[in-house]
Amino acid sequence: MGFKYPRNLTFTCSKCGLCCGDAARKKRHILLLESDAQQIAVQTKQQICAFAAETEGKEPYVYEMHKAAETGKCIFLRDNECTIYGARPLICRFYPFELTAAENGDACFGVTFECPGVACLGTPKGGKTLGESHFRTLLKLARDRHKQPSRSH
Ligand code: SF4
Repeated sequence: MGFKYPRNLTFTCSKCGLCCGDAARKKRHILLLESDAQQIAVQTKQQICAFAAETEGKEPYVYEMHKAAETGKCIFLRDNECTIYGARPLICRFYPFELTAAENGDACFGVTFECPGVACLGTPKGGKTLGESHFRTLLKLARDRHKQPSRSH
């Protein structure tokens, strides 16, 4: 199976909180795998329903994180810091990248330049240059997370 990822990029999280909720022109869905929800429940000692709602038709994601009504931001975001960083969901670990499967089954990483922390190599923004190993690590993480037991209906 092939593996494609964006080249010549640098990335440093600027802790702006943009990816943690709705933005001016974008409604964000913070989707959770079953394993994500279980991990957050353990870390926060809360029932899953306290921080997420079941969702359909977005497999493999089965829950959607609650957001604060007044800000549209994730309920775990405080002063632009994630309060469950160690247990944050896969979709948050991936941002500003997303993984899709090409028709031939290749794993393809895409990037969104809406994230102020990502830049093309050589631009003054600087940041950590992202090579193949970075994306291989993300791919392994996704595979491991998807291998974990799904919700028993
Ligand atoms: S879990 Fe953390 S990183 Fe993910 S959206 Fe919520 S605050 Fe942001």
